[in-house]
Amino acid sequence: MAECVFCTIVRDTTNENIIYKDDKVIVIKDIKPQAKVHLLIIPIMCLKSLAYIGPGQIPIMGHLFVVAEEMARREGITNSGYRLAMNQGEDAGQQVAHLHLHLIGGQSLAAMG
Ligand code: AMP
Repeated sequence: MAECVFCTIVRDTTNENIIYKDDKVIVIKDIKPQAKVHLLIIPIMCLKSLAYIGPGQIPIMGHLFVVAEEMARREGITNSGYRLAMNQGEDAGQQVAHLHLHLIGGQSLAAMG
């Protein structure tokens, strides 16, 4: 079976799309950006989706949000605002079975409700 696309990126130490890396996550630019800023915060460990998390994943889930805000600050969009999104399963349109957090902003976003 083919390796998941994000696992391939995580292992590729020369990938120029990796704009941030620490011991727990990488951050890449989305290949099909939905806004001026569209980053993906991806845990190095391959959790397939939110369906696979439990209390043991509280530290990594918290870390995703801390890194997301750091990335927003670097992009200069903390004050203008941004959206964090995580798709779970088919109805949400999850395409890649490797849990990840979308950071979307840099422009006014359509209201969600
Ligand atoms: P999701 O629908 O939540 O699974 O989101 C997957 C996201 O990954 C989509 O926004 C895709 O555009 C993005 N994506 C897929 N393959 C790549 C890739 N090789 N590099 C960067 N982004 C990707």
